[in-house]
Amino acid sequence: MFLLETKMTADAPHNPIIRDIRNTLCYLKQSGCTGFDCSVASLKILNQLGLPSHDTAVGRESLADIRTDLGECTRCGLCKSRTHIVFGEGSPNAQVVFVGEGPGFDEDKSGRPFVGAAGQLLTKIIAAMRLTRETVYIGNIVKCRPPNNRNPEPEEIRQCLPFLKRQLATINPRVICVLGSVAARALLETETPISRLRGRFYEFMGTPVMPTFHPAYLLRNPEKKRDVWEDVQQIMNMLE
Ligand code: URA
Repeated sequence: MFLLETKMTADAPHNPIIRDIRNTLCYLKQSGCTGFDCSVASLKILNQLGLPSHDTAVGRESLADIRTDLGECTRCGLCKSRTHIVFGEGSPNAQVVFVGEGPGFDEDKSGRPFVGAAGQLLTKIIAAMRLTRETVYIGNIVKCRPPNNRNPEPEEIRQCLPFLKRQLATINPRVICVLGSVAARALLETETPISRLRGRFYEFMGTPVMPTFHPAYLLRNPEKKRDVWEDVQQIMNMLE
């Protein structure tokens, strides 16, 4: 800060804007400030200051608008075998959005995300974070069940992801928690395995993203629960 202050003084001693900035920096230095937090999360909060809140934002489409636009979607072949579209559910003002890969058997039958065995574990993880399913938002990379729970094809993701992006833009969460390698690959556009991605924040549409293991993987590998707990604790710390 001192360097910046000195340079400003030398470069433009008579410019009133620079003089004001210089005075502010001097004041901050005297108050004990030694630097600025320029993390993705803090910059996001700064960018939002002074903007209308989610509820009053003018011109921002609602989740209902996006659902209406999706309609009885036939944009990819998954429509042929699905029972229900699984749009996503939770709070439109959620601070945390969880993103899975796509509906399974139970989700296809019910039309709700993460309600099967993996979903019950996700519900427990959310509770351990001192949150509830009603206060977060839960969605998927694709909204229709791939036959036999195969991974979604690139074309299916290409057709469906724009809707999730719009949901994320509307909700504007503080953090996205991406569950498992398929979802992480699609969202972060990387081939890096989830075991190497997890445990640190990335960025998607200006929002911090924490990749972690999928709850279905945890059901098969319970010893990895500790890793997920560490990952979600980082999310909790960010929300404090
Ligand atoms: N697995 C997912 O990735 N998403 C769901 O909704 C359910 C299981």
